[in-house]
Amino acid sequence: MRSVVTGGAGFIGSHLVEHLLDRGDEVIVLDDLSTGGMANLTRVEDHPLLTVHCGSVLDEATVFAAITGADRVFHLAAAVGVRLIVEEPLRGLRTNIHGTENVLEACRAVGARLLLASTSEVYGKNTADALSEDSDRILGSPLLSRWTYAAAKGIDEAFAHAYWSQYGLDVAIARFFNTVGARQTGRYGMVVPNLVGQALRGEPLTVFGDGRQTRCFSYVGDIVPAIVRLIMEPAAAGQAFNLGGAHEVSILELAERIVEITGSSSPIVLVPYEQAYAPGFEDMRRRVPDNSRAEALVGFAPATSLDDVIREVATDLAKRNDGVPELTLLSKDR
Ligand code: UDP
Repeated sequence: MRSVVTGGAGFIGSHLVEHLLDRGDEVIVLDDLSTGGMANLTRVEDHPLLTVHCGSVLDEATVFAAITGADRVFHLAAAVGVRLIVEEPLRGLRTNIHGTENVLEACRAVGARLLLASTSEVYGKNTADALSEDSDRILGSPLLSRWTYAAAKGIDEAFAHAYWSQYGLDVAIARFFNTVGARQTGRYGMVVPNLVGQALRGEPLTVFGDGRQTRCFSYVGDIVPAIVRLIMEPAAAGQAFNLGGAHEVSILELAERIVEITGSSSPIVLVPYEQAYAPGFEDMRRRVPDNSRAEALVGFAPATSLDDVIREVATDLAKRNDGVPELTLLSKDR
């Protein structure tokens, strides 16, 4: 089985690459090494079944070259992270729309199955008790750059669905809800590595807004096997699937857990959104997934606790960052 992973040197992509190689797949990575990097593939870089193409999904010829001969394509390459999207909206729009169109077209030409990575951002400000895949999207103005990611991913999904309905392309869509784990960087705004890094360095933990906004963090190790099962499941074609965590937590509670687990003496500070991002910035108050569709079709069951994920992220950051002192994490069996 030959699998292509666009964005394979990124956070989720690199975990997927390891998983596929462990299964015995031949794996081709297409990555422009912009937000990701070869350091994420250290464990497998010499693997005989791995090939890495350094190139952009915006380059049609490169995309076709990587995908020719593939059985399955996992399209994870994207401009992600609220900070990056707010600072560089054009990059987000171009990469996430044109890049996806190139991948869809190559998969159609080659007859490869496709798993498109999408996001819970597509639901926007819908605070429903549990968001199902058919829930409405409630987005702010397209002139606010925060919403360009949701807009672009929504177009990606519409493209994918049209390739399925008009061309019969075998494509499934996974909507990730705040996936976290080792190797995620806080550089582009993601809250868990950001706050864990601050706690380890003894800096104040910056909680934006009033900290009462909530998320359901999901562990990358729970997500990766689910997307592999989805791409292998013919009944998944033409559909979207929520993949989120099981427990809702406020960002303030998250910060408190991080301080406790890392034993940090850092204070937690509230930072107004306009200071953290830009004037007029809009956040989601709440984002809770209904995972039942993925549970029914491929047995998706998020099992890893937030505390365990925090420990893993802290251990990983300490290993990679010389500035972080030696760790004594609060043990599991307290
Ligand atoms: N956030 C925060 N401090 C940070 C980074 C993010 O309080 O240093 C907040 C952010 O405003 C949002 C939540 O944490 O309410 C999750 O942010 P992230 O960017 O990780 O994901 P998303 O906004 O896409 O859910």
